Amino acid sequence: MKRYFFRTIFLFTVMLGGCFEHKGCCDHHDLPSAATVLKQDASIEPVVIVGGGVAGLTAANYLLQANIPCIVFEGPKPGGALAQSDSVRNWPGVFNAPGVEIMRTLKDQVVLNGGVVEAGMLTAIDSKQWPFMLTLRDEAGSTHIIKTFSCIIAMGTEPNYLGIPGETGKDGYWGRGVTNCAVCDGALFKNKVVAVVGGGDSAMLEATYLAGLAKKVYVLMRRDVTRANDVRKINTLKAMSKVTFMYNTEVTAVRGNGEVVADIEIINNKTKAVSKLSVDGLFLAIGSTPNTKLLQGQCDLDKAGYICLTTGQESSVRGLFAAGDVCDPNTKQAVTASAMGCSAALQAKTFLEDRGYQSNQTTVDVEPVIVAETKASVVVRSKDKHDDTWVPKITSLDHARELIENVGNKLMVVDVYGDFCMPCQKMMPIVDELAQYYDHKVCFTKLDIASSTFDVNEFSQLVKTERIMQVPTFLFIKNGKVVQRSLGSMSKGEFAKLIEQYK
Ligand code: NDP
Repeated sequence: MKRYFFRTIFLFTVMLGGCFEHKGCCDHHDLPSAATVLKQDASIEPVVIVGGGVAGLTAANYLLQANIPCIVFEGPKPGGALAQSDSVRNWPGVFNAPGVEIMRTLKDQVVLNGGVVEAGMLTAIDSKQWPFMLTLRDEAGSTHIIKTFSCIIAMGTEPNYLGIPGETGKDGYWGRGVTNCAVCDGALFKNKVVAVVGGGDSAMLEATYLAGLAKKVYVLMRRDVTRANDVRKINTLKAMSKVTFMYNTEVTAVRGNGEVVADIEIINNKTKAVSKLSVDGLFLAIGSTPNTKLLQGQCDLDKAGYICLTTGQESSVRGLFAAGDVCDPNTKQAVTASAMGCSAALQAKTFLEDRGYQSNQTTVDVEPVIVAETKASVVVRSKDKHDDTWVPKITSLDHARELIENVGNKLMVVDVYGDFCMPCQKMMPIVDELAQYYDHKVCFTKLDIASSTFDVNEFSQLVKTERIMQVPTFLFIKNGKVVQRSLGSMSKGEFAKLIEQYK
């Protein structure tokens, strides 16, 4: 968030000012002019975008093109839902590309246009007063208050859980065989038996990806029909001998050996027959719930929690806009999310103009020095840090053994990652920074789960012994033994704490 605070100098037209009560029902004309408010507090942002998926990044691009500075806060899953797709075939102008690549390009485009994309979790929003007040938590765990004239909420949805024994919680197998991201974790299930729960497009997507890796894929549907729209994908799956569609089937429990998933209990909801299905992995694709808990009482939500729109992408509160899955219970396509991001940005622009906002931005970070900017944008792409020397890649089991031997009694941290995993990408600069900081004191290495240099059998053995079932996984190794295993992304502060504990 530091970059944001020292970002750009903007020149504003200023008049009189203050902070004002803003009721959702009031007319634009009830609000004072932005310039008036800025005179009291010049730190107020014109637009803050919450969410770094397709909708949020498209909105940013449109605002930046209109010369309206904006900041995008991306939450714990940068890249949003599209980043979970290994093969996107319906993005205009792109025949077929991994979602993560599309999202990288979109993010680069924002950076090239002079935008700022920061990691930051929205923890509260007060839309009852205008300018709106947002509370955000940064990577280091510090809280920041940001005031903004308008806000675009593009926080997407959170995947649903089954709520069955053995799924999550202390004794659950989440991250130990149960997951909801085939693109991220699929490579860990090569030649294994997996089940996908759900009958929607996400389930078909997950099953298709897994069918390319796993020995057997069961698709478990609670009804006797699929609700997916992608008929071609369904037909392809049905034609594959390793894929079995099981209808009227519900999962009632996940069971394991205390370490990893061993089987699931299923029930046929027509015959009521209960049976056991031996699987190594269970992939959930059972829909999602809008990320709007924080907005309860701040703007109108429908029964399912989706943001209600009034005119275009405006919520029930003037100046508060929504875009993407967070306000779309039906379509949920990347293209429609992008279109909504565009509309939200244009409406935010009009809203600001109506409020008399004028941005007379200096050219500090939007100067079209494309060559220099391109280089800078490439640097922010964590993917390009793969090849630097701070965190070398493990290339084989022998290499891993050699490294462990060489580090002696020093702490070794292994970042187990996947190229298509956005949380992994997000963690890479953090790992890199910590590796530099702890140079000579802690040995950092990384292991690509889709590594082509590893012998397949060796790799399966390693995955099995180290119980790697999810990426990113961080293994903390001391004297040749794994002393800590951390799953998923974490802040730099949390990571450093673990290092201090074990180094
Ligand atoms: P959906 O809501 O479309 O489907 C969820 C599936 O999970 C349904 O089959 C539902 O069953 C099932 N389900 C829900 N709860 C449970 C439960 N407790 N136990 C068992 N099964 C359960 O969600 P998706 O994430 O698949 O898709 C969301 C939207 O995103 C859709 O509009 C979809 O078209 C779109 N999408 C598009 C993609 C594309 O490539 N174009 C890719 C992915 C998503 P039931 O049918 O019985 O309700």
